[in-house]
Amino acid sequence: MMEYPLTLKNLLMRNRQLFGKKEVVSRNLTGDFRYTYRDFYQRVCKLANVLTSLDIKKGDKVATLAWNTHRHLELYFAVPCCGAVLHTLNLRLSREHLAYIINHAEDKVIVVDEDLVPLLESIRDQISTVKHFIVLDDTGNMPYTGLEPVYSYEQSLAKAPDHYDFPDIDEWSPAAMCYTSATTGNPKGVVYTHRGLFLHAMALTNADSMGLSEKDILMPVVPMFHVNAWGTPFAAVWVGSTLIMPGKKLDPPSLCQLIEQEKVTASPGVPTIWMGIAQLLESGAQYQLSSLRALVSGGAPLPEALIRKLDKFNIPVMHAYGMTETTPLVLVSNPKSYMNSLSVEEKYRLGSRQGLLVPGLEMKVIGENGQEIPWDGKQIGELWLRGPWIAKEYYKEPETSRETFVDGWMRTGDIVNVDEEGYVLIVDRAKDLIKSGGEWISSVDLENTIMGHDAVVETAVIAIPHEKWQERPLACVVLKESEIEKVSKQDILDFLRERVAKWWIPDEIIFVNQIPKTSTGKFSKRIIREMYRNRELQQQ
Ligand code: ADP
Repeated sequence: MMEYPLTLKNLLMRNRQLFGKKEVVSRNLTGDFRYTYRDFYQRVCKLANVLTSLDIKKGDKVATLAWNTHRHLELYFAVPCCGAVLHTLNLRLSREHLAYIINHAEDKVIVVDEDLVPLLESIRDQISTVKHFIVLDDTGNMPYTGLEPVYSYEQSLAKAPDHYDFPDIDEWSPAAMCYTSATTGNPKGVVYTHRGLFLHAMALTNADSMGLSEKDILMPVVPMFHVNAWGTPFAAVWVGSTLIMPGKKLDPPSLCQLIEQEKVTASPGVPTIWMGIAQLLESGAQYQLSSLRALVSGGAPLPEALIRKLDKFNIPVMHAYGMTETTPLVLVSNPKSYMNSLSVEEKYRLGSRQGLLVPGLEMKVIGENGQEIPWDGKQIGELWLRGPWIAKEYYKEPETSRETFVDGWMRTGDIVNVDEEGYVLIVDRAKDLIKSGGEWISSVDLENTIMGHDAVVETAVIAIPHEKWQERPLACVVLKESEIEKVSKQDILDFLRERVAKWWIPDEIIFVNQIPKTSTGKFSKRIIREMYRNRELQQQ
């Protein structure tokens, strides 16, 4: 066989040859913008010329601080295809962490959305490696800014030549990088090679995973700054899906309106977003959403109650699991062909499992005794992974890397069980499991059960220290507004008594207005633990 490099250039060129007529729609600050992939390619060439004129060389880091828009998509291809490295900055990180990752990655250029300029200005004094700033000027007016030297994206593109010869690149070269949002310490960087992104994009198009295809109208709601919007923009451009970029307005009405308007078929995002849509529909709002073949839910557990709620509106949900370190696709929940006869209840239960390992990866599950556990749907252990799109280290962090990357495997830190059919269930993050009287309680399982109560919007369960039992569960519960006066803590406990073992019943239920979220929209158990500590102190 030929020695053929697996690089993003192949993705871009296939799109150029085959899908010039297909469209990208972007919800920008100034309204909806629409163009074809033919125009997209031309602007990618212009952008590559702009980067070259700024002396961006192979391996230089070009950072983006931006929403999901057509301009961000142009950067996704122009930066890696001219040999540089795309560093997507999570705009919801703390200022301190943002400055840290810019310095740690040694970003040379930062390309920033017009409305995020003030955020960047606020850390300008703390960042030392950046030589140029480019503003994604949507309104046609450059904002007044202290950033320097600064250029207008649109004006730079307008002046740049149309033609660019994309170089041949070694497939092992870095193409992109992303930092995990740190729960403790500083964020850790993961570098994605061209080869890893290529093979991962191929996995996304596999019919037994997400099955992305030319027929799809894909709307990535998961931010492009979070694990490359799960790699979906790369795969979509490759296979010529229509792309709908939702911009910064991610509230349920805006998303539903966009799905209806553009007839979106597939959309990846975290469960909190889909929860919002379910609530909106339950409140009686009317949208035509029948074009959807899958809302892809990942990044956090998908409660069975949410699958049920969406099913009431004929909206199918596809459960997926992954991490920043795994590019991220690892597991996808699709029933096997001979499971058609499963009852609806069994299908819901299966759907709340994270699913089957996607082709191309290897997994093993290591129990407390260091041995692989049997696949019996009961015994638990830590999920270990290896494969062509699994990271082998954290960027410039040899010490931390040694804990996570062991003997050619990556330890996920996620505790799972696997049923006889190979469907994996993420029982908990190792650090969130509750150890009570020597037995494990899954905080995720408790959350999912509580969320099955009709009056509950969302809930997060954490461990609190206990003299006798070591740890006991505490549940923070958000009730539907209409139920606040009607439902008591006792009602929630009674509901649980019928559904979980007695010793799993939380020692305390606290009603809260909302669950604090991380920068990527997941429940922040760290903040909840801190909140509870304060509460305890106040009580003493
Ligand atoms: P962060 O650590 O910043 O939240 P990641 O996206 O890398 O960012 O988080 C990966 C973690 O999210 C996984 O290790 C796992 O604990 C959790 N996770 C991802 N997808 C799922 C899922 N479908 N169900 C349960 N947990 C999930």
